[in-house]
Amino acid sequence: MKMFYYQTEIEFEKVMNLYFMSKCSKCDGIVEVDMEHVCVNVLDKIMDIEEMPMLKCKTCGEIYYSRFAQEILCELYSELKRTGNREIYSTSRDYNKIYNYASNKNFIYDYKDYESIPGLRYDFEHSEEGFLTPVYFDKKALLYFIADLDYDVDMFSESYGYIRKNDKEGFYQYEWAVPFGFNTNEKLIFWLGDIDSMDDMSQGILKSFNVKSDHLLIDSEFYQAQMNCIPSKPIKEQQIILNKKSFITNIKKKYGIELSHLQNECELQRANVKRPVVFDEKSISEVINAFDKILIEGFSVSGLKSLYKRLYASSYDKDYDKWKSIRLIEEILRQLSNDISNEININEIISPLYILHDYRIYLDHLLSQEEQDKKRNHIANTLGVNNFSEQEKIYFEEIRRLDILFQCLVILSK
Ligand SMILES: [Zn+2]
Repeated sequence: MKMFYYQTEIEFEKVMNLYFMSKCSKCDGIVEVDMEHVCVNVLDKIMDIEEMPMLKCKTCGEIYYSRFAQEILCELYSELKRTGNREIYSTSRDYNKIYNYASNKNFIYDYKDYESIPGLRYDFEHSEEGFLTPVYFDKKALLYFIADLDYDVDMFSESYGYIRKNDKEGFYQYEWAVPFGFNTNEKLIFWLGDIDSMDDMSQGILKSFNVKSDHLLIDSEFYQAQMNCIPSKPIKEQQIILNKKSFITNIKKKYGIELSHLQNECELQRANVKRPVVFDEKSISEVINAFDKILIEGFSVSGLKSLYKRLYASSYDKDYDKWKSIRLIEEILRQLSNDISNEININEIISPLYILHDYRIYLDHLLSQEEQDKKRNHIANTLGVNNFSEQEKIYFEEIRRLDILFQCLVILSK
């Protein structure tokens, strides 16, 4: 229990009027909402609250009042004065306020988050209260949207992105577009007000992944970007490379396995990854070559093998030692998405790496006319394009698929 003592009513009121921000005033660390048992003494009056939404510094552990905690205390204190009682004790209650957004789906959320997290209530864009209430989901919900062509998922940083539903009627480019983020506990977060703007079916998909709030939000790129300024978004081609890096970092953190290989060379190749201005074989070959080096050769084969063996434990394939990078990544992806493998098509998700490899062989090697035709047809067929000469279509489809693949790898390795 955290005790607070105030010698005078004036001292108490002064503290109740301070506004605590999302950073610790002692060490500049980030604070998060934390439910604390607090006991506040003002002169001879005691207010004992079992679950108070406070703000706790993640670095030094210092505890601050949230705006909401201050309001509750002021109310309780005036009640004590009015009734003449000396003590008030408040146990946790299951009370939850329901806001007027997406209310027919009964999403689980905690109104205390909206009331306590700095900045969420000071929203002048929406007149109806509760818009910026964080709603928490299992991160796997995002995979459903990534795998479905009706949606466009754009992760433009490790833990912050946008999801858009394409407009079938074609009046607008998108039916709706909303931001999402991940907190430090790997929970997927949307704003309640944004969920309200989604169509019924999309809300239904989300609802099945809805989980209880863990109150963590402030220490996330999502909150920082939404409350402060939105960082500029890199082109998809660069985002794919950033996501590959995040995947490698996640694996290192989680399993202690190093997947990076020839990092400096990858950095040099990255300069060649620019969106082509004209779409002919020559200009595209430069990007494809660079991608092939970074996204396939830029993985440590021995690292992939260790990871494969680790993930499959005793059920690993005895032939795995002969496999090359793409096959290993494919099997790793299969195992990481094990519990939802019915929902996503692994063969299709991994296809852009095989295409990259085919393309590279086609461009770099001296092949017979017949072999060349075979490769060209194979690439066009796999990507669902009529003819190999439609290089622009091929390019964008390949990039779109690479983007999906690396988003999946990032999410599944979190
Ligand atoms: Zn601190």
